[in-house]
Amino acid sequence: MERVGVFICHCGSNIGAVVDCAKVAENVRDYPGVAYSTDYKYMCSEPGQEMIQNAIKEHKLNRVVVASCSPRMHEKTFRACVEKAGLNPYMFEMANIREHCSWVHAGKNEEATAKATDLVKMAVSKVCKNEQLQKGHAPVTKRALRDRRDPVRAGYR
Ligand code: SF4
Repeated sequence: MERVGVFICHCGSNIGAVVDCAKVAENVRDYPGVAYSTDYKYMCSEPGQEMIQNAIKEHKLNRVVVASCSPRMHEKTFRACVEKAGLNPYMFEMANIREHCSWVHAGKNEEATAKATDLVKMAVSKVCKNEQLQKGHAPVTKRALRDRRDPVRAGYR
């Protein structure tokens, strides 16, 4: 059975000045699969990560969603965080409510809050379908990595 923990990040005022983070956490509390939902000023900070790890243990969470910035910025951080608390790192999803929401909808707080809620619900539905993955290695043929657009470098001339 899915037990998803949802953590909504304010990023100080970056998200918090536009999106009502406490309301988003409340809006998704009864969404299917959600076992715990809360908001916090800086999720990537040490206390923020500790909050996630404690909630995993306390609420027996088996999946986590963080709604914050782009996965390019902190997906690795949060995967490592949940792994330290005993979860498979791929039982984690990020909803980008900063670049995809607060930064592009400044001044439209109500709409941005509704959109953030939808983005979080989508991430929850996705994480419920995630499977535990293991990292692997595969051998590669280096010749296949040559730039084929350049016939000289590719060795055709
Ligand atoms: S997790 Fe991302 S959005 Fe949240 S405080 Fe850190 S940088 Fe900002």
